[in-house]
Amino acid sequence: MAQYAYVIVPVAVKGPFTYALDPQGTAVGRGMRVVVPFGTGRKLYTGIVVRTHDQAPGSTRTRKVHSVLDQEAIVPERVIRFWMDMANHYLCSAGEVMLAAMPAQLVLNSSTRICTTASTPTYPAGNAGEAIFLSALEDQGRLSIEQAGELLGVKDPLRKIKDLIEAGAVGLEEHVRDTFRPRTKRMVRLAESARDEASLRTWFDTLEKAPKQLAILMRFIELGRGQRTGEQLINTPHLLKSAGADRSALRTLIAKGLFEEVQVQDGLEPTDPIGPAELPTLSQAQSRALAEVRERFGTHPVVLLQGVTGSGKTELYMHLIQEALDQGGQVLYLLPEIALTKLSVQRLRNRFGEHVHLFHSRLTPHQRAELWSKLASDKGGRAIVLGVRSALLLPFQDLHLIIVDEEHDPSFKQHKPAPRYNARDMAVTMASPDRVRVLLGSATPSLESAFNARTGKYGFVKLTERYGGSTLPEVVTVDLREAQKKKRLKGHFSPQLLQAVDRAVQRREQVILFQNRRGYSPIWQCTSCGHIPGCAHCDVSLTYHKRDHDLRCHYCGCNYEPPTACPECRSGTLRMLGSGTERIEEELTGLLPEVRVARLDQDTARGKHAVEQLMSRFDDGELDVLVGTQMVTKGLDLDRVSLVGIMNADRLWGFPDLRAHERAFQLMAQVAGRSGRRRDPGQVIIQAYDIAHPVLQFVLQHDVDGFTDRELEHRRVLGYPPFSRMVRFTLKHRKEGLVAAAAAHMARELRHHFGDRALGPEVPAVAWVRDQHIRNILVKLRRSDHAREKALLAGVFEHMVRSEEHGRVRIIADVDPM
Ligand SMILES: [Zn+2]
Ligand SMILES: [Zn+2]
Repeated sequence: MAQYAYVIVPVAVKGPFTYALDPQGTAVGRGMRVVVPFGTGRKLYTGIVVRTHDQAPGSTRTRKVHSVLDQEAIVPERVIRFWMDMANHYLCSAGEVMLAAMPAQLVLNSSTRICTTASTPTYPAGNAGEAIFLSALEDQGRLSIEQAGELLGVKDPLRKIKDLIEAGAVGLEEHVRDTFRPRTKRMVRLAESARDEASLRTWFDTLEKAPKQLAILMRFIELGRGQRTGEQLINTPHLLKSAGADRSALRTLIAKGLFEEVQVQDGLEPTDPIGPAELPTLSQAQSRALAEVRERFGTHPVVLLQGVTGSGKTELYMHLIQEALDQGGQVLYLLPEIALTKLSVQRLRNRFGEHVHLFHSRLTPHQRAELWSKLASDKGGRAIVLGVRSALLLPFQDLHLIIVDEEHDPSFKQHKPAPRYNARDMAVTMASPDRVRVLLGSATPSLESAFNARTGKYGFVKLTERYGGSTLPEVVTVDLREAQKKKRLKGHFSPQLLQAVDRAVQRREQVILFQNRRGYSPIWQCTSCGHIPGCAHCDVSLTYHKRDHDLRCHYCGCNYEPPTACPECRSGTLRMLGSGTERIEEELTGLLPEVRVARLDQDTARGKHAVEQLMSRFDDGELDVLVGTQMVTKGLDLDRVSLVGIMNADRLWGFPDLRAHERAFQLMAQVAGRSGRRRDPGQVIIQAYDIAHPVLQFVLQHDVDGFTDRELEHRRVLGYPPFSRMVRFTLKHRKEGLVAAAAAHMARELRHHFGDRALGPEVPAVAWVRDQHIRNILVKLRRSDHAREKALLAGVFEHMVRSEEHGRVRIIADVDPM
């Protein structure tokens, strides 16, 4: 038996680390979990064995593995290699990748908090220690594993707790508080006896003299088109509203035995599958695109599918998924946000039933651990995982296809903590000619993907027709400068936009208003001295939130009481400048009181199922207008939106950021694409001060390729990605002098290797956050010499982190920042 194990420990220190094995102990192998001590205290961690060996390490004292938790590997070899590659690429530790990848329940450490479960009170304690521990846990509700160790009287509590969790005696404390009560909705379906053609025809005759009841039946048939005969389920309020009828008419029909009403639970939880549904029939354009995707996969493991909004990419995906499953493989389907795309989720569920697994931030620790174990042990099992970026880190054993839908979306990139990875880019690294195919889909591809498609690195397929032949919406601009000069603005609404909203709502259609800022007003300013109240810990102005009547810092989350007088000059009144979603919502309610408005932003999306509930109310026609931040651009499937308004486009392209134009174009084109998806072309109204801005012209023309040409040329001239690869270092410290000195030193070192491709140190626009002063340094690496330059860069970074003089300054490396 080997004497040592090389172990990945979930800490931010570069590893892996060597530990000594107990020669009499249980056999240890690659991919198994072991309990190891780390650091100066008595802290214990769950680590993963990379390999075992017999080479004594150089250091004098090698610490011992406390215990072995598994009999067989829980992390496949491919996954361990992937963690190491990812750590290398993103300049972080393999332990940080492990921590991001593995469900907390599988990698307990001393500070993990545990809590009681329903079966804690009745669980038979094995010995006195266990009895003491269980009753203490019941008293206090939660304990750390370190505390549990003391109560149990054992040195290595992780093993014991792992067994107790598996037995269901204790659970892991959840950080997301779940205040969810399932929302049910009323749905109407045909009574059993009325589900065939003949009896329906009789009903039409019977109801001839009751026009209101007949209207309900007719609308029911109309709305149920597309669902299977006899199985149509229609939302009750929606049915009544579109039939112009009231409940009493429906009640009569139920009493007569035509309909029955059922309560259906809402949300993403599984509903009874009505299926398995057929694969969707493809239009000619879709079939052609599908054939092209298949053909490109013959020569390219990665294919970019550029399909206009509403072209039905999902239908195409479903055919590819079916093929992968038929070959006995697994499928990973990555999306920016699951709750917003309920319709797609439901369709996949209807077709693929129990093979579909959802993976998102609202799963419980237990559900995550279950899915992990299933995939890790499941060789050759069919599965589709539909998930957000972290689903990429799941231990698939037999992946055949990865779909990255809305591949341009910034939420595929993790900003903090490390690993600061981009799930799309990592998916691409998993592609291989003989196994894993990767399909990137978007109406507005990222410049990186568009570049790779143009240079032939990726296969490229275009889908230019909207499904069902609907045309792209008409996009018009409104000149805010002129409207303001002529004093025609009502709040932040131009007369054109306001009329269009009113008209759409009159016609019982729905509206999305996009405002790139939450809260009520981002700036308060004293009218006499000009003072603007700012955060005490950050260099930013405070945003007023009217509903809670407080001032909030959007950088650190601090709350402040709104001042009644100017804190500087003690006089004057404070006026509000600028607007956020809350103010737009309020203004619209004031201007058009009958309109039912709701807001979709970070503030209203709090709570486990808030987004799903809001979206389902919008879907059911209980709301007319949705005012939202970029959340409304994330691939919402909505049927009845005929108008999209962008409140202030200038705010989108005005950032001093190399991706500002790309992001602005994508946001506007995506939100515009939410208009008129099924029936009419729909309309988009963009309000802007600079209506001649070049980005806006491309949006008006729906000219994705034109925009890409222009922006790529711009990036080429400046040597920015995709023509180089960037790494950004962010340095932070409470003392400005220290951070400035460290940044100057690091920039000098980098310039030594990279010359003028090392930019900075730069003082960012917001240079002080959470009491920390910030400096940035950017390095552009050559694509052609990437590996060598990356190694040089890693050397400088390591050197800084270990430096005696600058080691106290925190340095964050962000590879391929967004
Ligand atoms: Zn003042
Ligand atoms: Zn702050």
